[in-house]
Amino acid sequence: MKHYNLCIIGGGPAGMTAAIYAGRSGLSTIIIDSMALGGAMATAPIIENYPGWESITGLELAQIMKKQVVKAGVEIREMEKVVEVNLQSKVKTVKTDLEEYTCDSVIIATGGERKRLGAKGEAEFYGRGVSYCAVCDGALYKDKDVIVVGGGNCAVSAALYLKNIARNVTLIHRRDDLRCESVLKNRLIDCGVKLIWNSVIREVKGDKTLKTVVVENTMNQSLVELPADGLFIEIGIVPNSSIFSCAGVTVNEAGYIIVDKDMKTNIPGVFAAGDVTGGVEQISVAVGKGTVAYNSAYEYIRSIANECKI
Ligand SMILES: Cc1cc2nc3c(=O)[nH]c(=O)nc-3n(C[C@H](O)[C@H](O)[C@H](O)COP(=O)(O)OP(=O)(O)OC[C@H]3O[C@@H](n4cnc5c(N)ncnc54)[C@H](O)[C@@H]3O)c2cc1C
Repeated sequence: MKHYNLCIIGGGPAGMTAAIYAGRSGLSTIIIDSMALGGAMATAPIIENYPGWESITGLELAQIMKKQVVKAGVEIREMEKVVEVNLQSKVKTVKTDLEEYTCDSVIIATGGERKRLGAKGEAEFYGRGVSYCAVCDGALYKDKDVIVVGGGNCAVSAALYLKNIARNVTLIHRRDDLRCESVLKNRLIDCGVKLIWNSVIREVKGDKTLKTVVVENTMNQSLVELPADGLFIEIGIVPNSSIFSCAGVTVNEAGYIIVDKDMKTNIPGVFAAGDVTGGVEQISVAVGKGTVAYNSAYEYIRSIANECKI
C-alpha cells in the first residue's frame, strides 16, 4: 500500500489548487477524482468572472489547472472513486473502488451535486436556456425574459442579481412563502420581480434554445405555459460529504463540512475546501479555500514529522 504525505480527494478547482501548492512544496501528494480532473468547473459552458481570463470555457480552464498539477509532480488518479476513509488514527486510510492508500493528512474537496428539478426537457436544454448558476450565466440573458426556481436565499439572490441584467424576472416557488432572509424578501418585492406561488415546473420546451416552461399550480393542478429565454434552477446543492461524516467528520444540517478559518475539520490532519464546505460557490472562492487548506495541511505534516523530516 503506497503512503503519501497528503491525499487530496476531489479534483475540482479547490483540490487542484491544493495539489499545485503541495507538489511544489515537496510533499508527496496524490489527488483522486471519480471523474476527470476539473470538477463542476469543467461543466461551465463559459466562465467570464475568474480573474485573468476574460472568457474561457470551463473545460479549457480545467485543462490548464491540470497541467499545473502535473508539472508540480503530483500523482493523479482519475476515474477512481473514494468509497471509504479511516481518518481517526495518525496514519489515515483512503480506499477507492480500485486501490487503498495511506497518508498523513487528507484534504476533502469533493464539491456537491446541483439539485435537479426533474422536469421533462431539463437535461436536454441544459446550456441552451437551462442553467444552475445565475452568477455564472446571467450575463448571457441581457434584456431577456428569465425564470428563477426556488424559495431560499440562493434563489432570491439569483433573482435580484438577474433583475439588473434581464428584462423580466419571474420567481416560481412551490410554496406560498419564501424561506429567505426578510431583507432579501423585501428587496425582491420592491424591485418588481414577479412572484408565482404554489407552482412547480413540469416541462421545459424549445427548439435550438429554451422558449417556454410548463408550470403546474399545485393547489388546483392547472397548467400554464410561460415564455422564457432562461430558466435558472437555484434549489441548492447536495454536498458530497456522506462518506466523511460516516468517518467522523462533523457536518451541518445541510451536509456541509464544518471548518474553521484555516479549513480544519474536527479531526486532526483532516481539512476541507471548496463547495463541500458551503458559502459562495464560485471558482475563485474554491481556489482560495484550497490554498488555505494546503497551508494548514503543510503545517500539520511538518508538525507530525518532528520538523525537518519532510
Ligand atoms: C454549470 C456550472 C457553471 C458554473 N459556472 C461558474 C462560473 O462561471 N464561475 C464560477 O466562478 N463558478 C462557476 N460555477 C461554480 C464552480 O464550478 C464551483 O463553485 C467550483 O467548481 C467548486 O469547486 P470544488 O473544487 O469545491 O468542487 P467541484 O468543482 O465540484 O469538484 C469536486 C470534485 O470532487 C469529485 N468527487 C466527488 N466525490 C468524490 C469521491 N467520492 N471520490 C473521488 N472524487 C470525488 C468530483 O468528481 C469533482 O470532480 C459553475 C458551476 C456549474 C455547475
